[in-house]
Amino acid sequence: MSDIDRRAFLSTVVAGVAATGVSLPLRGVGVDDPSQPSRLAPASPAFRPLPLADIRPDGWLARQLKIQADGLSGHLDEFWPDIKDSQWFGGAAEGWERAPYWLDGVIPLAWLLDDRPLKARITKYVNYIVDHQRADGWYGPYPADAVAKRYDMWAILLVNKVLAQYHGATGDQRALDAVVKSLHAMLDGLDQTPLYGWGKFRWFEGLVPALYAYEQTRHSWLLDLARKLRAQGTDYEALFETDDVKVPTPRRGLWKWTKHVVNMAMAPKAAALSWRLDRRTADRAFATKMIGVLDRYHGQVTGMFTGDECLSGRNPVQGTELCAVVEFMYSLEQLFSVFGDPVFADRLERVAFNALPAAISPDMWAHQYDQQVNQVQCTVNPDHGWSTNGPESNLFGLEPNYGCCTSNMHQGWPKFAGHLWMKTPDDGLVAAAWAPCRVRTSVRGTPVAIRVSTDYPFREEITLGVSPDRSVRFPLLLRVPAWAEGATMRIGDAPEMRMTPGTLHRLERLWTGETNVRVRFPMRAQVTVRYNDAIAVERGPLIYALQIGEAWTRVNADKPHRDLPHADFEVRPTTPWNYGLIVDDRHPGASLRFEERSVGGRPFSPDGAGVVAKGRGQQIPGWKIVRGWAGELATADAGTADPIKPVSDQPIEELTLIPYGCTNIRITEFPRLKPTVSGP
Ligand SMILES: [Zn+2]
Repeated sequence: MSDIDRRAFLSTVVAGVAATGVSLPLRGVGVDDPSQPSRLAPASPAFRPLPLADIRPDGWLARQLKIQADGLSGHLDEFWPDIKDSQWFGGAAEGWERAPYWLDGVIPLAWLLDDRPLKARITKYVNYIVDHQRADGWYGPYPADAVAKRYDMWAILLVNKVLAQYHGATGDQRALDAVVKSLHAMLDGLDQTPLYGWGKFRWFEGLVPALYAYEQTRHSWLLDLARKLRAQGTDYEALFETDDVKVPTPRRGLWKWTKHVVNMAMAPKAAALSWRLDRRTADRAFATKMIGVLDRYHGQVTGMFTGDECLSGRNPVQGTELCAVVEFMYSLEQLFSVFGDPVFADRLERVAFNALPAAISPDMWAHQYDQQVNQVQCTVNPDHGWSTNGPESNLFGLEPNYGCCTSNMHQGWPKFAGHLWMKTPDDGLVAAAWAPCRVRTSVRGTPVAIRVSTDYPFREEITLGVSPDRSVRFPLLLRVPAWAEGATMRIGDAPEMRMTPGTLHRLERLWTGETNVRVRFPMRAQVTVRYNDAIAVERGPLIYALQIGEAWTRVNADKPHRDLPHADFEVRPTTPWNYGLIVDDRHPGASLRFEERSVGGRPFSPDGAGVVAKGRGQQIPGWKIVRGWAGELATADAGTADPIKPVSDQPIEELTLIPYGCTNIRITEFPRLKPTVSGP
């Protein structure tokens, strides 16, 4: 045990914490001393996610995860060569990011569902990776002279994150030992071959397993490794001082590492992980700044930003890559966990309930590479306007454009489910995000069960049933979304209490027997002004989009591995889509009528929409498909500051809007039409 190791170990003992992976900040340690880089133990996160074993999806979320396991996620390893025959599993196909990506999503999926056959297959794959780690710490697919050959470190950062997650799910010591051995090889390897390429731009992903392994082992060199990764990696703070990140990449423009949408979606977590290393207050501010710049110059109403696949501006016909969606969700989960600011969890819900399901078919067998907020057809389109992506990027299929999303999309829902509830530092619980689930965990030494019964985000009401095995006092923190003005809570039959939007409402009491806590988050319709003065309809965490009749046509049937149900499809509109929306934007609630429906077996499908909105609009004949996409809104006279006049020779029609995540094709940003008194 080195001197530094011993100090860390002793301080753990002094703090009264058994070496079980629970870390506490060391008292009396103020600022970091750069001459003693590892003296400071990492700061604890504001909240710690519960172990996967403590949480189970329920209601619509359980159905969604089951659909996922029955779809591509649970079957990809049976037929797709880059997983089935991956070099990571002893085959001869791809040996880089794809198998680790897939494991990163199916591990939480299988353990949350307790899907035994899937768990058994995953265990077999993980065992293969661990068994074939070389004595020098490098994994099987890496060449024997990995460092001398300048092998991009990205896949090692990724697979160690995966194995750390597997250790968290199973407690398998061999997985943790493999991570420690691999990271130690990296510590030396980085001196010979510094980070470059993907590893350089994604250095912070290595901090996830490094900090995890540190908390398990207290090896202080893991903190040296974390700092070395940061020192060699891309400095996003400096990058976001440049103007280039603000400029949309032109149609068929230059592909750049520094504008790559997935890098941009992953990088906000760097601030959180870096803050844990040395508590630099600027890191907190930078996470907010970075997301703010992305929003301002590339933001979409879904909570995402465009990148097809380099940052593409605010036009709602530009694409957002699915990898960016799931990676941004994971970044937001990390940011909320570390900083405890509910703004990150609000944002997480917005992406999870809108952008994530939209890019994946309702049966979760097909996905898009790029989704568009205004997406009126998805076709093989050589005349496309993506910045750097190819003609098939918005098809629903097995591997449209490129297979990264095929292997990486699986983490979206399971990690969201796994981050719904977290532990507070004073051994209470916090509801980070809202969805139906059951929690069974230990609080202050007492087993506690919490059942969250709700059809949120399709409903305003959430009921929590809190049942400790015996009476126990602990705080329960309930996240109140920033949009939920007038939010209320009632414990049992006690009087209703107000909750403040944008806060974590703290409820500390002696919990005895079963207590029902009923929460209501009033959802008011809002109309927001977007690109070219178009308008979008939001209500609570959901965005609403025009429901369009759709025709699916199978394509690429002659390509390998496109047998049903994992085939490729084009989608075309069968009903008009070129509507302007008649909305009084000062009183949008009065122009839109929301109707609740039962949430379908497929919650995110046009037929399964749990809530629909009825509004009024008029067709705009000049607004047409140009180059295979919805034409520029400006061609529909929407580019003016004043509401455009009703298109007088067109009838006013009733329009049906459904949650964005339920649509496959859609109009979301509408030309704004002036309210009239006539019409239905
Ligand atoms: Zn991708």
